[in-house]
Amino acid sequence: MKQFNVGIIGATGMVGQRFSLLLDKHPWFNVVCVAASPRSAGKKLKDAVGAKWAMNEPIPEAIGELTVFDATADIDKISSMVDFVFCAVDMPKDKIRALEEAYAKAECPVVSNNSAHRATPDVPMVVPEINPEHIEIIEAQKKRLGTKRGFIAVKSNCSLQSYVPALHPLMEKFKVTKALACTYQAISGAGKTFKSWPEILDNVIPYIGGEEEKSEQEPLKIWGHIEGDEIVNATAPNITTQCLRVPVSDGHTAAVFASFEKKPTKEEILEAWKNFSGVPQELELPSAPKQFLHYFEENDRPQANLDRNLEGGMAVSIGRLREDTQYDYKFVCLSHNTLRGAAGGAVLMAELLAAKGYFD
Ligand code: NAP
Repeated sequence: MKQFNVGIIGATGMVGQRFSLLLDKHPWFNVVCVAASPRSAGKKLKDAVGAKWAMNEPIPEAIGELTVFDATADIDKISSMVDFVFCAVDMPKDKIRALEEAYAKAECPVVSNNSAHRATPDVPMVVPEINPEHIEIIEAQKKRLGTKRGFIAVKSNCSLQSYVPALHPLMEKFKVTKALACTYQAISGAGKTFKSWPEILDNVIPYIGGEEEKSEQEPLKIWGHIEGDEIVNATAPNITTQCLRVPVSDGHTAAVFASFEKKPTKEEILEAWKNFSGVPQELELPSAPKQFLHYFEENDRPQANLDRNLEGGMAVSIGRLREDTQYDYKFVCLSHNTLRGAAGGAVLMAELLAAKGYFD
């Protein structure tokens, strides 16, 4: 595979730090520049991050030595250095929308973790095992933007990253009619650590701004289809969610209930999970987990602390599948929020785009 030069926009943040670790020694992608706010610009990345480094592994040496650019003021410079950028920034939504479009219009593709463009109808929101064909909408987006190679592709919210993959293999054959998910979300999802957020210890916070709307609406775009120049959302299943912040460092857990038009047996569900794989596994993309969905027979699994790093944090763990009195079935699932749910999912999407020639 060809080598690609990449930039990390938001490199000092929680997701940006994950990108540094994942891209250090990546077989296809070389990090040649990093960017963040004007507060960090001009410093070496390792100094700009300083005590905010929240990963267990140290900052990769070569990436840590890079001088941080200003993500907005240096768009042209950055675009001339790279084949594409990863973007994960904490800014007002309208500013992020404008920033990402400015990179795309500078002919620099953007693989984004931000929510700003997730509802834009010609921006694909891709879970590579589920809806890889949505990247074909990029041609329509380029037409709108007037670009030759610049475009935006986004990753979905981290909250849904366990239950959408678990429901997906059951959709076509058994038709999921409705689903309820209560999520128990880690503090790294808020860009926090126990050190920076001691108030979360011995506590549960029953509100994460905007999260329930994203968790209910984004799955319908992922399960949507391309019609003309846009992605049309699916109309089913009906999804309702409650999202809670819990004192866990990494790993979002979801307690899920689901009903079907044609109720499967428990064995049929387990079989569908075991046999499910997608384009990333077929193409053997470097970050693809071998077994995307893992089912644990033990009643006390999955556990965030034990299972979030399964297959490099790129797999989804499921357990406790059983019949329910109100819905057909209930189960519990888990995914790593900054790996599969953020930076890892974006790297896998970029590998899919690279394999399909979108960065050429
Ligand atoms: P974070 O730790 O707060 O980091 C924010 C990043 O944005 C930093 O690099 C910061 O740079 C940069 N930034 C802030 N203001 C900026 C500006 N005016 N111009 C350029 N850069 C600016 O946030 P995070 O948790 O990494 O999240 C980043 C994005 O990813 C958000 O949109 C979030 O919703 C999304 N996301 C996060 C997760 C997760 O699990 N954490 C999962 C999915 C999606 P400075 O250090 O210079 O301020």
